[in-house]
Amino acid sequence: MTHRLYYEDAFQTTFEATVEQMKLADGKPWLALDRTLFYPEGGGQPYDTGILHTEDHQFAVCDVQADESGLIWHQVEVSESGRLPEAGEAVKGRIDWPRRFDHMQQHTGEHIIANCVHHLTGGFTHGLHIGHEVCTIDISLSDGQTRLDEQTLLDIESLANQKIAEDGAVRCYFPPKESLETLPLRKDPTVKENIRVCDIGGFEMVACGGTHLSRASQVGLIKILSAQPARGKLRLFFLCGLRATRHYAICYTAASRAASQLSVKEAEVPDRLAEVLKQAADTRRELAVMRRRETLAKVPALLEGALVLADGRRVVIAELEEKDHPAMEALARELVAQRRIIALLCVPAQGRHNLLFARSDDLSLNLNEFIKSIGAKGGGRPEFVRGAANDSLPWEAAKVMAPHF
Ligand SMILES: [Zn+2]
Repeated sequence: MTHRLYYEDAFQTTFEATVEQMKLADGKPWLALDRTLFYPEGGGQPYDTGILHTEDHQFAVCDVQADESGLIWHQVEVSESGRLPEAGEAVKGRIDWPRRFDHMQQHTGEHIIANCVHHLTGGFTHGLHIGHEVCTIDISLSDGQTRLDEQTLLDIESLANQKIAEDGAVRCYFPPKESLETLPLRKDPTVKENIRVCDIGGFEMVACGGTHLSRASQVGLIKILSAQPARGKLRLFFLCGLRATRHYAICYTAASRAASQLSVKEAEVPDRLAEVLKQAADTRRELAVMRRRETLAKVPALLEGALVLADGRRVVIAELEEKDHPAMEALARELVAQRRIIALLCVPAQGRHNLLFARSDDLSLNLNEFIKSIGAKGGGRPEFVRGAANDSLPWEAAKVMAPHF
């Protein structure tokens, strides 16, 4: 069984140990040490990384796992010479302290949140997950509820930050079995032996084998980001410590820039933004109405300039502007509402030539066949077809063929 040095001092970063065993798993070497500061993955807390070194070689520790016998295995990167420490060889180790401290902030903060959740809602927490960016915890609420209102979430966050400010000492210890039964644990331990208790300022007490800070104030800040139902429970997304302060800096910079652009205070940004967005939507609607009117106003001039065929049919050939695109169909319908009209319209938009061909009901020309004959993609009904082309060739072909309808 590996002696867990992190239980004695979670703030220690270097240690000396002896290699007990070596094994290969999936082609990667793993070392079991007689003692270690490397925390193995467990209880939702990721493993520590860092280095192990002998007199002349250094090995990066990339993964750490405990087995059922209590040995802690360290997956190491083989050094350039390919030499691994042997059983019985002395090694020195150093954990990646910023990574561990971050995990301790998230983990200790989670204890405080879990306690505040229990205190304010009676709910129990399970399944802590310290993710790369965000942490989550699932809450079982009474009566199978899977939601908490916004005010309750704010109350939990506020109480948690108050507990941080009260700066209770964090004490982790293995109580004798008889006194364990008398301790006011927040929930029943999940293990039966070697039960380690974590006590934070006397208000939070629960069995836990993780690494913790030494005082509540070292958590710094707790921010609950959101909560949503997940598998019959309520999943809480949160950040603690430096993650929360970095998040605050990002959010404040964004809010303050938005406030400055909108000429309001940060707290007024959502209401002002809603007004601005509504104004923009109204303006877009008004603009669309004006543009449609403007497009349809072209009807008399287009009819006037139409190509008149020998049998009296008129062919309107029009290359419109991109702003006419939304009203293109309405324009075609206005044109062919007249007798004996063939309308050939083209609008360039988003790098494509958009084609719309239509004819009056009193004609028999099949525009579906026509659009295929000029090499454009598209189709529709004999009297009304849409098409598009990446280049101008089909449109040019349509203009050439128009006098021969
Ligand atoms: Zn813990």
